[in-house]
Amino acid sequence: MASRRKLVVIGNGMAGARSVEEILARGGGEIFDIAMYGDEPWGNYNRIMLSAVLEGSTDASAILLNPLRWYDEHAIRLHAGVRAERIFRYARTVIGSDGSQEPYDKLIIATGSRPFIPPLDGIALPDGSLKPGIFGFRTLADCQRIAEYAAGKRRVAVIGGGLLGLECARALVKFDVEVLIVHHATHLMNQQIDPQAGAILKSRIEEMGIHVHLGVEVRVILGDERVTGLVFGDGQVMDCEMAVFATGTRPNHEIARSCGLTVERAIVVDDQLRCIDDPNIYAVGECIQHGGRTYGLVAPLWEQAKVLADHITARDPKAAYHGSRIATKLKVAGVELASMGLIEPSGERDEVVQFSEPRKGTYKKVLIRDGHLLGAILLGDIGKAAYLLHAFDSNSPLPEERVNLLFDIGAPPKQVTFEQIPPETQICNCNGITMGALVKCVKAERHTAQEIMALTKAGTACGSCESMVREIVDWANGEAPRDPSSLPGSQGEHELQRKYNTELQALAFYKHQMLDHLNSAMRAYIARQEMMFVGTADRHGHAHNSFRAGPAGFVKVLDEQTLAYPEFHGNGVMSSLGNISENGHVGLMFIDFAGDRIGLHVNGSARIVENDEFQQLLGSRSGNEAALAESANGNSPTPERWVVVSVADAFIHCSKHVPQMRKVEQEVQWGTDDPRAKGGDYFGVASGQK
Ligand SMILES: Cc1cc2nc3c(=O)[nH]c(=O)nc-3n(C[C@H](O)[C@H](O)[C@H](O)COP(=O)(O)OP(=O)(O)OC[C@H]3O[C@@H](n4cnc5c(N)ncnc54)[C@H](O)[C@@H]3O)c2cc1C
Repeated sequence: MASRRKLVVIGNGMAGARSVEEILARGGGEIFDIAMYGDEPWGNYNRIMLSAVLEGSTDASAILLNPLRWYDEHAIRLHAGVRAERIFRYARTVIGSDGSQEPYDKLIIATGSRPFIPPLDGIALPDGSLKPGIFGFRTLADCQRIAEYAAGKRRVAVIGGGLLGLECARALVKFDVEVLIVHHATHLMNQQIDPQAGAILKSRIEEMGIHVHLGVEVRVILGDERVTGLVFGDGQVMDCEMAVFATGTRPNHEIARSCGLTVERAIVVDDQLRCIDDPNIYAVGECIQHGGRTYGLVAPLWEQAKVLADHITARDPKAAYHGSRIATKLKVAGVELASMGLIEPSGERDEVVQFSEPRKGTYKKVLIRDGHLLGAILLGDIGKAAYLLHAFDSNSPLPEERVNLLFDIGAPPKQVTFEQIPPETQICNCNGITMGALVKCVKAERHTAQEIMALTKAGTACGSCESMVREIVDWANGEAPRDPSSLPGSQGEHELQRKYNTELQALAFYKHQMLDHLNSAMRAYIARQEMMFVGTADRHGHAHNSFRAGPAGFVKVLDEQTLAYPEFHGNGVMSSLGNISENGHVGLMFIDFAGDRIGLHVNGSARIVENDEFQQLLGSRSGNEAALAESANGNSPTPERWVVVSVADAFIHCSKHVPQMRKVEQEVQWGTDDPRAKGGDYFGVASGQK
């Protein structure tokens, strides 16, 4: 151990920590004594999940990738909350802001980037500090500050209508403030999509209650002591109490420049991620410039970290980074958007295949050159995204029938089974983890999804593939997958799952989120509800849906397997009761419209019970239920009948679709999407709550 060389890493963000993980995976713990500087006070966290933290749907602790104890466990000296101030290249030493010193044999700079806040009139106070109410959005500390400041405010502006601005605006809606996006270009996300897609995206964003101002520049920030408004380039004044800037980033390269390393837009590195002036210093992540390009997404960092680790550990001294192909996915619940490569043709040879149905919010475009994919935009229906991404990444030849790039047509889509998924298929796009890598892990005696996710990071970034990863692990462990035909949900829902080729996600979702009883969280949730939808069908299967309302607790949970709701004479529910007398199957749906819009589905078999029989039923129960009987009697007027339901399935409802209910013609992928967008493990089912 004494002969280990010293490795120092500056920056404990996504690239720095990932590089260290890759180095350890190549036996780097035996080669290097590792020290890290990270000027944020916690371990490494998943920055791409910050908007979920900001909107409050995810706890900050849930996005930690490597908590502080991980560093101890791997004998890494982490200077948490300490900024590396200087690099002395000749003495090969890094100096921390607390006076600490770390000598190095090899150094990695992974300082990332920071929000760019333009030097507008009125942006700063006379002492040069940013005016209260001005924010960037990059760190957990930013989330805390934004959330604290937004509380009780009336109007908030997000400056910048790119990926980050849209996520931030969506998160801010949760604070009960009026949110507006101010964007200098004439359409949203102009780097990733074309104007046609931009127009559709704008209307989707406006449907969320966000105001969008396009083609306007902010010139002045108003307010003496704090932000009170904005002045646009055309002189228009807009009142607002805070402004979050999502106007791009600037690489943190100062520490490299000050020690004489070559910096252009960022720290210039070669194909081995080494600084071009010093073979002992590497740089990785958003702070680098490689081949003239800088990157602002995580996928390139994973590729860079692997090459760096191969090289620095001498596992593969010839490993080389040749740049990354860029694909993005918008993580705004309710908007399906994927984009990759070019968005407009750039030469006469370029073919464009396009489909647009603005009324449904669907737009698809692919750009092809010499039979290979140059770029694609999918909005509203991203069913072909995985396929196109694979074609884009691998530069593989495309089918002659171009329409197949946009739609699954002809024969009905095949039901995909895990055996049919090729090993090179990417399952976790954020972390670049393939089907083959997951299966390999299971074969290497890692059996639980938790272990495999911790090891590979699959499913731990944006989270949209988490349930799929769990399902693959179960399958690779030899557990028989559930038969899709036994899934809950309507026939229409199953058709959509088939159409979008998302049956596997649906299987995974229901497997991990469905109970055959009501757990304590579900029981408490039902007790709070003041309304409920009731779905029944007659003996021929003709459906009838109706609505019930009453004071909180009007639906009685009798035990974890049984609930009951009252039916009053003359309230128009005879079709429903008639159906139940023919066909006992009912589907109940509770949605908390006033609160977080999370919903609960309960399917079961129902029977109609006269009021006196119901009272007897309650009387025969224990003391607890006797109190319930009293409260049932206390309801006025007295119900004529009760419907008693034996619970068969209980599971979270697709919350993200609830705001779209008023647009019933909008086709949505029921039951097949990201469980986090549905409220995550809201009822504690996946984590085993009783
Ligand atoms: C809200 C948000 C959402 C995003 N969503 C996506 C997404 O969906 N998909 C995607 O691909 N990418 C997304 N990104 C971008 C992604 O997070 C970045 O590409 C990635 O974090 C870059 O990693 P990095 O290590 O280079 O920089 P960072 O993760 O920023 O890490 C750099 C670290 O170094 C620290 N540091 C800087 N200077 C010093 C110093 N001198 N001493 C000590 N420490 C220092 C910084 O404080 C920071 O902790 C998102 C970013 C944000 C902010």
